[in-house]
Amino acid sequence: MKLAVFNDYRIGLIDGDQVRDVTAALPAWLDQLPAQRMNWLIAHWAELKPALINAEASAPPLALTQVKLLPPSPAPAQVFAAPANYRKHVGELGVRTVSKGTAREQGFFLKAPASLVGAGGAIELPRGSTRRFDHECELGVIIGRAGRNVPRATALDHVFGYTCLIDATMRIEPGVGDEERSMRKSFAGFTPLGPWVITADKIADPQNLNSRLWVDGELKQDGNTRDMIVGVAEMIELISSVLPIAPGDVIAMGTPEGVSPLHAGSTVHIEIEKIGGMSLQVREADSVAPRAW
Ligand code: MN
Repeated sequence: MKLAVFNDYRIGLIDGDQVRDVTAALPAWLDQLPAQRMNWLIAHWAELKPALINAEASAPPLALTQVKLLPPSPAPAQVFAAPANYRKHVGELGVRTVSKGTAREQGFFLKAPASLVGAGGAIELPRGSTRRFDHECELGVIIGRAGRNVPRATALDHVFGYTCLIDATMRIEPGVGDEERSMRKSFAGFTPLGPWVITADKIADPQNLNSRLWVDGELKQDGNTRDMIVGVAEMIELISSVLPIAPGDVIAMGTPEGVSPLHAGSTVHIEIEKIGGMSLQVREADSVAPRAW
């Protein structure tokens, strides 16, 4: 199944180029906390799934072009991210990277959940900045079942589903700026997620998916998740060895080579095999921040 979150955090099932609004299958009290609907749905997936399928039959279809798609996990407690997780990406940034080995040695970093944006949003660059901002084409994992100290052998049982994720990044620049990684990757709109989540039962092997990213129609990144250094199961083992994972948590699985600068006015398109794709505009933020970047 493909699930989307749209408009005012409504829950939809994707059917081709349409979405069916099944929000009514969720408890009405969630209307007081609409951003939490998806976390609740994921945590109660087994018992809720039949009700969603029931609701789908009578839900009028809406064209995807007529709704605003939000991140399919819009309010995760955590957004984890893998650094340096594809061999050919390691080294391609030259002096613009902090070289500390691969994800296996470094572990994970965090992106702020408020940096998430859905397929209906945009990547906003700080207005007036001359810094370099890059796209990173990544598999997004959405956690289903809570866990702590989860061994890799059973880690995929904790995955709710998969989605496309762009890890937008302000690069460090020798002599200019050497800010914390989590901050450079947490500007509002720097974590596009979507367009929907496809449930894990539809992805037989998350380590064999082509992932591609285009800027203005030009193919920039063309990878396959088989080339990850730390795969999804090992990453869940690693993260849950540090702290509990929770339903709705997001993991950005790292980028293959081919990262390149983003500029206002461009359109970025990401596509992952068996999941789908989404396009986002890149634009400058409306106002200049009082702290310039
Ligand atoms: Mn990344």
